Amino acid sequence: MKPVEASCNLCGKNSFKVREDDETPFRVLECLNCGLVFVHPFPDIDKLAVHYGEDYYRDWIYQQKNTRIRMWKGRLNKLEKRRQRGDLLDVGCGDGAFLKLAGERGWEISGTEHSSYAANYVSEALGIPIFCGEVFAAGYPDNSFDVVTMWHVLEHVTDPGRYLREIHRILKPSGLLLVAVPNVNDYIMQAAYRLVKKRPLKLFSKDDREIHLYHFSDETLKNYLVKTGFECLKISPDYGITEYSKKMINFIAAAFYYTTGFRIFNALEVYATRI
Ligand SMILES: [Zn+2]
Repeated sequence: MKPVEASCNLCGKNSFKVREDDETPFRVLECLNCGLVFVHPFPDIDKLAVHYGEDYYRDWIYQQKNTRIRMWKGRLNKLEKRRQRGDLLDVGCGDGAFLKLAGERGWEISGTEHSSYAANYVSEALGIPIFCGEVFAAGYPDNSFDVVTMWHVLEHVTDPGRYLREIHRILKPSGLLLVAVPNVNDYIMQAAYRLVKKRPLKLFSKDDREIHLYHFSDETLKNYLVKTGFECLKISPDYGITEYSKKMINFIAAAFYYTTGFRIFNALEVYATRI
């Protein structure tokens, strides 16, 4: 293939294989050294922030509200089994439902959000002050938070390494980081999609509701965390899907994981601690 003017965000090398090449000028590349999968070149990031406007959030805030609250409760219950309540930052807090719930349960809450629509909604409708922008622009002091959460955010940012280094700086020593991302090795979902739609599930499409710039596996995500100063405590299935049929497929994939150890479920949930 033609040389790519890029270096891998995880390992810095610049040899890639092409995973997808049908959305000119965008291609999905896989690093031959570390296996990181990403889109190249990136779509216009400012346009993406606008893309996550009212239309994107409407269903979550209204139609799917109760289902999503159940999802957030499940995630928070799990977190509270590991950590006592303290200062919590939700990076990319979206419609703020997780922060609201955490606040009601006694956490000291902070949030950042790149979409100005969502940041305004959270600040005005929920009364939670939010920093609108990228986490490294918020200027939080060193050692500010006991827990930082990133629910399906890292795959949307242009520089995951920079995000993780910043979170390491603002977490307290031994602070907990919780990251959930889609799993690039979601083979059971891919097989189900191919069976129903008669075509492969794509990693990138300009017209997708969700534009993912990076695609992580358990291995690449763990390597990112280790490289940025974290110890990975646990990698397990994330249960963020609310759509019934996909949820069932994910349960099958999770059951497969718990009997075989293969992480081919839909999304990864990682607990890591700052070293
Ligand atoms: Zn690499």
